[in-house]
Amino acid sequence: MSNSRSPLIEQLLERNEDHAASHRLAGLPAEPAQQLAVVACMDARLDVLSALGLEVGDAHVIRNAGGIVTDDVIRSLVLSQRRLGTSEIVVLHHTRCGVEGLDEAALERELVAEAGEAPAWAAGAFPDVYADVTASLEGLRTCPFLPRRELVRGFVYDVETGRLHEVSAPADPVPPPE
Ligand code: ZN
Repeated sequence: MSNSRSPLIEQLLERNEDHAASHRLAGLPAEPAQQLAVVACMDARLDVLSALGLEVGDAHVIRNAGGIVTDDVIRSLVLSQRRLGTSEIVVLHHTRCGVEGLDEAALERELVAEAGEAPAWAAGAFPDVYADVTASLEGLRTCPFLPRRELVRGFVYDVETGRLHEVSAPADPVPPPE
């Protein structure tokens, strides 16, 4: 296979030259200024910083398909809280998510047919976005690896209106260890 060059990537590199020419973020600390971590879906319509009125440097934004709480999200949150000083978590799903109602069994059959094996991970499909935020909040509020679990809130972002709808969790927040 020849090493092909993507016109898009070449454009991105050109735009990076412009970015670097006006770069004013040198010296920002690694610790998020708002002590906030956001777990969000990767959806291209969801601009997390803009939706929450945040600036670069304000928050960790941990994204994956669906914004689901996987072991790797927990890994990032543990480092965020234990090494980089964050104390609040926002879980951010959205309407019309591709993971909502995804046929997980069909995807697995496709992978097995083409790759000859099933992946070790689950696709993380959920039937209802609000229910999945509730489950995510519950998982985070009971996660023993996280030292700060009292300030965890969840929202669904409406991709049509840009508004957030809060999802309440069934359980009371877990107090931090003394
Ligand atoms: Zn999504």
